[in-house]
Amino acid sequence: MPETVILATAAAALGLIVGSFLNVVAHRLPRGQSLLYPPSACPHCGQRVRPWHNVPVASYLFLRGRCRNCGAPIGRHYPLTEAATGLISGITAGAIGLTPFLLPGLIFAWTLIALTRIDLDLQLLPDRLTLPLAGLGLALSVVGIWVPGLIGWQGPGLPPPLGSLLGLALGYGLLFATGWAYAAATGREGLGGGDLKLLGALGAWVGPVAVVLALFVAALLGSLIGGLIILLRGGGRHLAIPFGPFLAAGGWALLLWKDTLIRWYFGLSGLSG
Ligand SMILES: [Zn+2]
Repeated sequence: MPETVILATAAAALGLIVGSFLNVVAHRLPRGQSLLYPPSACPHCGQRVRPWHNVPVASYLFLRGRCRNCGAPIGRHYPLTEAATGLISGITAGAIGLTPFLLPGLIFAWTLIALTRIDLDLQLLPDRLTLPLAGLGLALSVVGIWVPGLIGWQGPGLPPPLGSLLGLALGYGLLFATGWAYAAATGREGLGGGDLKLLGALGAWVGPVAVVLALFVAALLGSLIGGLIILLRGGGRHLAIPFGPFLAAGGWALLLWKDTLIRWYFGLSGLSG
């Protein structure tokens, strides 16, 4: 459908600009700095980033990945975050369509991108992002705005706010129990408190059934990609890989393709059909 293509393209363009802001958020929020002031500057020489040098991705390519003023290299994660935010925004908008859930869905995706960046950088998922994410999910269930055409927060017959609350409790509780069992078995701390809050927040958005699947998808992705990294880098088995990015990917996938993934999962496990 052409409208979907136009919407996805517009969202992708917006996403490039938002991705540029998410770079600032990912750097400053965990350090307790203001998100709006001062304007972006080269971390090496302090030279302000001029607006015409702040065009997402293009500036990085044009300046060949170096500061215009001092020539210090600019991390590749900056243009990568911008490009990924553009792509993810386009897919999110294309899947949701022009509905009241469009903006909440994009905010959901953007928050998860910021959390992913921060977890990769600092092995940290700040409460200042996970708690508002949970709150927004609960609020949306109260006003009844959700992805059109998908089953909502249930458990069948559950009123949406109850489904959202159950999802939150189950998401948090599942990881709490997993972490407890892991610590009891190995004597080592496996999961951070931020992981629990993130899966709780995702549960508030997708409900109790889908949050279990989000964890399943996260664990699947985590073992595939984690295994690949260990294979390529030859790292030891104690190599710490943050789990937040996988939880984020699982939650995002379940938000957009809940019905498909539930059908696929139950088909796979042979519980139906
Ligand atoms: Zn510089």
